[in-house]
Amino acid sequence: MTKRHILSRRAFLKKAGAATAASLVNPFQAGAASLEQVDEMPTRPFGRTGVRVPILSFGGSLNLPSLMLRQAFKWGVTYWDTAHSYMGGNSEKLIGKYLKKFPQDRRQIFLVTKSHAWTLDGMSDELEQSLQRLNTDYVDLFFVHSVGDIAELNDAKRAWAEKKKAEGKIRLFGFSTHRNMEACMLGAAKLGWIDAIMMSYNFRLMHRDEMKRAVAACAEAGIGLTAMKTQGGGSLKTGTRTEEEMVDRLLQKGFTDAQAKLKMVWENPNIASICSEMPNMSILMANVAAALNRTPLTSGDRRRLRRYAHETRSDYCRGCTRICEAALNGRAPVGDIMRHLMYWRSYGERHRAQAFFDRLPPGRRIEIAALDYEVVERLCPQQIAIGQLVRQALNEFCA
Ligand code: SF4
Repeated sequence: MTKRHILSRRAFLKKAGAATAASLVNPFQAGAASLEQVDEMPTRPFGRTGVRVPILSFGGSLNLPSLMLRQAFKWGVTYWDTAHSYMGGNSEKLIGKYLKKFPQDRRQIFLVTKSHAWTLDGMSDELEQSLQRLNTDYVDLFFVHSVGDIAELNDAKRAWAEKKKAEGKIRLFGFSTHRNMEACMLGAAKLGWIDAIMMSYNFRLMHRDEMKRAVAACAEAGIGLTAMKTQGGGSLKTGTRTEEEMVDRLLQKGFTDAQAKLKMVWENPNIASICSEMPNMSILMANVAAALNRTPLTSGDRRRLRRYAHETRSDYCRGCTRICEAALNGRAPVGDIMRHLMYWRSYGERHRAQAFFDRLPPGRRIEIAALDYEVVERLCPQQIAIGQLVRQALNEFCA
């Protein structure tokens, strides 16, 4: 990187920071006397479930103090997403603490949890624990966590879901997916008993024909869709000229690039909600502001975002593990490694990445490090330096 580039990048970041602060204020001030009085959060139908959900939902894998939850609730962010595994159970406990303090809010909150258990008994046990931690008798939606193959949603899971619905413990059932999302979504649309899906979906993925077909099939099947990973791996990593130009133009309109990435996803009416991890009040405010702001993106904004996505594709793994993991005969969980690298490098969630690598047995780590990734790198549609990144991750977390 040249000195000139470093200087211009510094100036650029300073400018971006200043405009971010401005953008946090303006949407609230338009017609609002105080932060307590903001426009109503828009809602959308959640497929054909009969439920409407706010277009912004709170992702709960982080430490969420009651104050943040309270403010989110007041601003209409009443769809809360957690999981049995998040923060070793503490995420659910924090929401449970909130619901104990504000029990009257429960009926207005669309509460979602997930289970990673491999067996039906395991799912039942985790659901019971989740209900206990959350201080509630039911969850509005229960997800099987991180599905990578639709075959995981078999008849036994269907019977389990129907039983739990009949018992009043869950209202809706579905799955989350970060790997082979499009195939999972197309498969779910054919099943006829999946209520909802939360999938990776962002400005990098949404224009691909495969993803367009998957979203359309789910919409046709009445499945409620929630987008996650909408920042597409974060921002300001590569500092390309396109990125600088894009951010500059957006800032002139009062958006940050992060807000524009949310707006791009909301442009698809089949996406009911965006699940966003909002670790602090600034990000919560910025996202709420983006949800309330009615100014559309221009064709130029969209074009620059797409160009930026193309130029930085090697920074983003799109979860098509059927390509790389199949070529490696399943000997390395490449998609999971890339995703946890993203949690660390783009979101700063080191604990989450560390927990993943801690679960890899020592012998497996050695095998993964020793693999030859040359062939799969040639197959990777994103041109990711897979071998280099896998080894960097192992050095960082397993040394
Ligand atoms: S590393 Fe490449 S081939 Fe593998 S899942 Fe990611 S984008 Fe797809």
